[in-house]
Amino acid sequence: MARVLILGAGISGHTAALAAKRKLGKQHEVVVVSPNSNYQWVPSNIWVGVGRMTTKQVIFPLAPVYKKQGIIFKQAKAVSIHPEGDASNPKQFVKIQYVTDIMKGQEESVEYDYLINATGPKLNFEATEGLGPDLNSHSVCTYDHADKTWEELQKCFAKMEKGETQRFVIGTGNGMATCQGAAFEYSLNIAFELERRKLLHLAEIIWISNEYELGDFGMGGAYVKQGGYVTPTKIFAESIFKEYGVNWIVGSAVQKVEPGLLHYENIEGEKLTLSFDFAMLIPAFSGVGLKAYNKENEDITAQIFASNGFMKVDADYTPKPYEQWRASDWPSIYQNPTYENMYACGIAFAPPHTISKPMISKNGTPITATAPRTGMPSSVMGKIVAENIAEQIKTGTKEHKHRASMAGMGAACVISAGYGFARGKAATMTVFPVVQDWEKYPKWGRNLKYTVGEMGRAGHWFKWAMHYMFMYKAKAKPLWWLIPE
Ligand SMILES: Cc1cc2nc3c(=O)[nH]c(=O)nc-3n(C[C@H](O)[C@H](O)[C@H](O)COP(=O)(O)OP(=O)(O)OC[C@H]3O[C@@H](n4cnc5c(N)ncnc54)[C@H](O)[C@@H]3O)c2cc1C
Repeated sequence: MARVLILGAGISGHTAALAAKRKLGKQHEVVVVSPNSNYQWVPSNIWVGVGRMTTKQVIFPLAPVYKKQGIIFKQAKAVSIHPEGDASNPKQFVKIQYVTDIMKGQEESVEYDYLINATGPKLNFEATEGLGPDLNSHSVCTYDHADKTWEELQKCFAKMEKGETQRFVIGTGNGMATCQGAAFEYSLNIAFELERRKLLHLAEIIWISNEYELGDFGMGGAYVKQGGYVTPTKIFAESIFKEYGVNWIVGSAVQKVEPGLLHYENIEGEKLTLSFDFAMLIPAFSGVGLKAYNKENEDITAQIFASNGFMKVDADYTPKPYEQWRASDWPSIYQNPTYENMYACGIAFAPPHTISKPMISKNGTPITATAPRTGMPSSVMGKIVAENIAEQIKTGTKEHKHRASMAGMGAACVISAGYGFARGKAATMTVFPVVQDWEKYPKWGRNLKYTVGEMGRAGHWFKWAMHYMFMYKAKAKPLWWLIPE
């Protein structure tokens, strides 16, 4: 019997767990270690943050689902990986620490034959002074953050109903943050909610981000087919913001947030401030801080993880200038180069570099939208890693039949811009591939047949349907595996 140990039960890890168990059956063990008792469908946190969904609608408890599937669940956080075992145990293991009330702080060593690290990001609010929901800005990155943000948003609405003006600042809270799409979506939803309440005339909505230009989205922008024309995402995003009354500041690194005031530096090296009544700013992401030790108990963290804390996989990490970046730099099987039974998928793997051209301010401050790793690629990676491992276990080979490079797969991003059957709208963007491949597609970097952008109601319905479809799938209800990633 082999044991597959999965760290993290988010979009990538949960997909991997269900796929591995389905393939491996009762003969082998699948163990999931994750600190949160709930699964959360993160994309719908946007709607929690504007009061259109409750937290209960975007989460469900994992334990019953895992019990039914025959997956062992440990509500704990992984602390360190020991890929060679140690002096007292020759078998590889992960040290975990329980987080539930009864077992809090207790440690356990969980042995494995195959390890999947799907621990996602650490929301690195500390990288920017004063940033975050415990300090001076809001977040929609988790369901509890989004819930708290909605409470604060209502206070702004109440002030506006009494005739007060309010400034909403939405975007990224660090020069190296990612996830611009989520912040973009949140700004549009705020504009929509203000208009619905007939309060828009009292609002100023400002987008601030580290993108070199609007519509970069951390993927170096894109050319999309829109209404039969090729449009840069810069124009696509600008026209949406114009329609929704959102102004923008780009090429900026937020460096400090005080109550009602943020400090930022722009590409010109100017140090500026911006006051706000409400700020929702996405933090920089880093790895969750896992350590690694060899059998002599020497710290090998720097060998296994990149400096940003994400796990190294089969990418080309050789430092090289932007002009020499290639699609082939990107990993396709997510296997650690040192330990072949160790994989990292979703946000947990270390990308070889950003997708957007790296920029620095005149003072040397890095201001670059880092590579997005959205839900669709994250779950596709989880699935292929699980399938490869399952096949290796069953056949005794070391083959990787399934591959999913971000430079070879597409992604769909549906940016909702309002809620409701008759009034909701969304900007739907599909890109293929996520990472430009200038050798294969020399004109546009991507295949324009599958790289499209449209604004309309159908996108909203699709996003709304996706919420229910993916929650159904994540709950592993009958025939769940027929729903694509
Ligand atoms: C507000 C918002 C909206 C978004 N909207 C979209 C969208 O519309 N479409 C889209 O495609 N993508 C969207 N994304 C991105 C998408 O949510 C991510 O791509 C996806 O969640 C990444 O999956 P993951 O499994 O890598 O990480 P996560 O989903 O973050 O899961 C990580 C898991 O690891 C667990 N964990 C953390 N530390 C440890 C530890 N030490 N040990 C064990 N487990 C640990 C966590 O509890 C969690 O269960 C959005 C993101 C945000 C923040």
